[in-house]
Amino acid sequence: MALEIRILDYGDIELESSFLVLGRDCGRTRRVPTYGFLILGGAYPVLVDTGYRDNAIMETLGMRGLQFHENMIERQLAKHGVKPRDVRYIVHTHLHIDHAGKDDHFPMTTTVVVNRRELEYSVSGLMHPQYPKPDIIHLIERLHTPQALRLEDLELSGPIELIPGVVLEAAYAHTEGSLNVHVETAEGRATICGDVIYDIQDQVVEPFRIAFADEVQVTGNHAGSKRAEKAAIKKLLNGSDFLLPVHDKPAKVHRGQVVGRLEWEVPGPVSHSVHRRAWFPA
Ligand SMILES: [Zn+2]
Repeated sequence: MALEIRILDYGDIELESSFLVLGRDCGRTRRVPTYGFLILGGAYPVLVDTGYRDNAIMETLGMRGLQFHENMIERQLAKHGVKPRDVRYIVHTHLHIDHAGKDDHFPMTTTVVVNRRELEYSVSGLMHPQYPKPDIIHLIERLHTPQALRLEDLELSGPIELIPGVVLEAAYAHTEGSLNVHVETAEGRATICGDVIYDIQDQVVEPFRIAFADEVQVTGNHAGSKRAEKAAIKKLLNGSDFLLPVHDKPAKVHRGQVVGRLEWEVPGPVSHSVHRRAWFPA
């Protein structure tokens, strides 16, 4: 059976526009989704990212959380017949406030998978407020509980296959330890790319304030260099058939170009129980 990706809706976030795309609409507020991805059809369910703890915690960054009852992680999983204890692995693209906020809803028998560099980075004090105390303390509890945490060194190991058809690879962008999750589906390679891309339209399709050819715009929130972020985005555009960021609708890509977008609920390999596929040209 081929792997499938189901999108989970953890609730929106309101934040300042230039945080998402460098220099865009400074001072204006944007509302973006926060997604998680449930990979089904393999030996066990695998969950990628868990959203933010609660609305109040987003205030610590001066952002607004719009998480409602419907967005609770248990309810989002239940739509696909999955309970927290059924999830074998939780993979984090990175450990920011809006990606790793619900690990304590899962038993210690669910193994959380993190790039070791990201766990180190989360306690470095660099980008400090984006790594909230309760989430990181929970991960340290897991570090001291047998089998509750799995650490990878993707910068050194190269890509690692977590279960057949699900491969983790260092992203080299957004944070020092971010990773991408490649999923081999019946329709091609779909890559869950965390926050390496925030906004497909304004960074890739019509890059904000960039005139020259085949260039991409960076986000307003990256730990490394702009050069590294641009290269990481181009690598994604050239290495996958579908890109699934956490704060934007998925994109279909071909040879470095975005060739389609999915109507808010998702694409080819990604299905949603009630919405049928709806692609529109980029
Ligand atoms: Zn994020």
